[in-house]
Amino acid sequence: MPQVNAYGTQGAAQPLAPLQIARRELEVNDVAVDIAFCGVCHTDIHQTRNEWGNSMYPMVPGHEIVGKVTAVGSKVKRFKAGDKVGVGCLVDSCRECEDCKDGLEQFCCKPVFTYNSFEKDGKTLVQGGYSTKIVVHQDFILRIPDNLSLDKAAPLLCAGITTYSPLRHWKTGPGKRVAVLGLGGLGHMAVKLGHAMKAEITVLTRTLNKIDDAKRLGADHVYATNDPKTFEKLSRYFDLIINTVSVKLDWGKYLEMLKRDGSMVLLGVPSDAPQLPASPLIMARRSLAGSLIGGIKETQEMLDFCGKHNIASDIELIPITKINEAYERILKSDVKYRFVIDIATLK
Ligand SMILES: [Zn+2]
Ligand SMILES: [Zn+2]
Repeated sequence: MPQVNAYGTQGAAQPLAPLQIARRELEVNDVAVDIAFCGVCHTDIHQTRNEWGNSMYPMVPGHEIVGKVTAVGSKVKRFKAGDKVGVGCLVDSCRECEDCKDGLEQFCCKPVFTYNSFEKDGKTLVQGGYSTKIVVHQDFILRIPDNLSLDKAAPLLCAGITTYSPLRHWKTGPGKRVAVLGLGGLGHMAVKLGHAMKAEITVLTRTLNKIDDAKRLGADHVYATNDPKTFEKLSRYFDLIINTVSVKLDWGKYLEMLKRDGSMVLLGVPSDAPQLPASPLIMARRSLAGSLIGGIKETQEMLDFCGKHNIASDIELIPITKINEAYERILKSDVKYRFVIDIATLK
């Protein structure tokens, strides 16, 4: 099997370092991709450090992968060498369950995630995008619109679809008031996408430090959550709150900002579960919901939407050697707004 250069870790307490991994030989339905860039998602930190307790090693993280096709299997007709493509959080699924049939592979009972997951054979560990090449079944390859630059498009494969999917599911559009809670990698994409869908976008952030940035990204309003008046002023105001914050918050206070029948959608998992008061839900028929990335069909729809509206991520491009430093900066929210690895530095 072809060996390729990668960066990963042998255990939860070890920093990321160079290693070699095997990629499978091209099968009839496979697409071989020469990786150009890979975005750095907070999940990469959780997984490499075994913060969710399910990590398997060695682990090469990375699920915001973009690059060019180098070869295709004999049954692949939709892609050819030279095409600009992407791979997100999924590389396979069972294809038989209700969720797969509905195009919602992210909820499949037997998903194959891009890393820290087994191939369908149940024993080969798959490895992610901090590497020079990847081989993926054609059904899980996405097309990147030509007008988007590959480096800035990489974060669309996770941060983009993670915010696009709930915005669409909860029918964001003209006349809708949407709050984006937290302005990081996910939040900045939610602002751009929600703005392009012509909703009124309000950023709720701890302080007003990021007010200029939020407006530049497309926010109509910005409010500080460290100011109690924000909660009075915006009581019963929003149709939808996209909650990108994965630290413990008083969810009840935020639910009170929703109109009747409004929804707050969680995209992050707080390490300790907050208490959920029932009355803000009951008193205005509000909902608390969650959302996980998106299916393959919807991911392509999101990429095409971004191509049409010329939307991509705001990034800081780094060489692979800066990855451990980048992790520390992400933990301090010190990134505008997504690190992307230049995979040329790994070749
Ligand atoms: Zn991610
Ligand atoms: Zn399935």
